[in-house]
Amino acid sequence: MSFEDFNFHHDVLEGLRAMGFEKPTPIQEQSIPVIMQNKDLIACAQTGTGKTAAYLLPILNKLSVKGDNHSTDTVIVVPTRELALQIDQQIEGFAYFLSVTSIAIYGGNDGKTWDQQKAALTRGADIIIATPGRLLQHANMGYVKLDQVKHLILDEADRMLDMGFYDDITKIVEMLPSKRQNLMFSATMPGKIRELAKKTLHDPEQINIALSKPAEGVLQAAYMLYDDQKIPVIRDLLTGKDYIKSVIIFTSTKIAVRKIEADLCKAGFKAKGIQSDLEQSEREATLREFRNRNFQILVATDIMARGIDIDEIGLVINFDVPKDAEDYIHRIGRTARADSTGVGITFITENDQNDFKDIEDLIGSEIYKIKLSPAFGPQPEYKPGAKKKNFKNLKEKIKGKHLFSRKKPGQEKSPKP
Ligand code: ADP
Ligand code: MG
Repeated sequence: MSFEDFNFHHDVLEGLRAMGFEKPTPIQEQSIPVIMQNKDLIACAQTGTGKTAAYLLPILNKLSVKGDNHSTDTVIVVPTRELALQIDQQIEGFAYFLSVTSIAIYGGNDGKTWDQQKAALTRGADIIIATPGRLLQHANMGYVKLDQVKHLILDEADRMLDMGFYDDITKIVEMLPSKRQNLMFSATMPGKIRELAKKTLHDPEQINIALSKPAEGVLQAAYMLYDDQKIPVIRDLLTGKDYIKSVIIFTSTKIAVRKIEADLCKAGFKAKGIQSDLEQSEREATLREFRNRNFQILVATDIMARGIDIDEIGLVINFDVPKDAEDYIHRIGRTARADSTGVGITFITENDQNDFKDIEDLIGSEIYKIKLSPAFGPQPEYKPGAKKKNFKNLKEKIKGKHLFSRKKPGQEKSPKP
């Protein structure tokens, strides 16, 4: 299948060409026709599978024939400022040959940004990409005109609910015309997402694409080790490997981010940490430098693990095992975006091994354990205990009836394998 098959407007195809997209990804293949038919949609696919273009392209295609009045046609609600900016940039790329306007609206800055956002919202734009809280603040001032909105998109819906945006989203929905198309994109499909979908979407089509496996092309491996062996192993892995341009190290706490960053810098690496305590502007500057390859190693907490797209991460290291097995998939999803390949390595200590077994259960395969060179001293053995968490529910949720099929919610029969 090719992008030509969607009957996109010529200028949309030109934009695709300019962006270097040749072939639709599976989620794009399935979502785009549904969206073009003006149906509501709930789409679930793991990080890195191309969900952004899956909704942007059909929306831009519709806007390509709209004319220049710039009343707001589409509202895209997203969890973070970084994601809002990233989507805005993608729109700029795809819409290069169209006269479509967009603005990113997000919080946490100075008065100047507020004024700029206010001015832009007063002028109006075809597409608003916004974090929920800030959009509501502006909307409550009266100059945001939402009465012509025809499309509502909730991107990273799971993450928005994790961050406590349920009520804000509900309020935004209430401000929109009731006749509109609703699209919801999510990497996971927990119960509260279904609840939100039921409230917001109208008779949606449902698309689910293999959530339980990290993107193909990720080579996964793990080390059993003791805490004090972690930095030496990283040193060993990366010394002299300048050709691995971009590495992300994930860890679960902010304190650990700072410690790892300091240890790596001491060991002579170019490393920077990013976590939620930093100012937005600092986070953005760090991400920008990382994208530009100004430094090799980004150390991050899970808040960074979802959504943010950085091309060609060669290596992801899990400094510790994520407590939530689904986070593993998100972290590993940072590498091997779209068609590229990458490596995901996890450090497992004795305390973490049961959590790691949960991950192996979730993805349905055992991850290769690399043997430490004797120079590092003795290493613990991988012996996950008999005491296992009740993991069945999550596994079923992910592997079960709602996935691998395209059907409307409510149909309860399992799909044929
Ligand atoms: P998701 O939202 O599912 O996490 P993104 O929309 O951020 O994924 O896309 C991941 C990466 O893949 C981005 O760099 C994007 O530009 C790229 N990408 C998406 N679709 C295609 C495609 N059809 N061809 C080439 N690259 C693509
Ligand atoms: Mg996304």
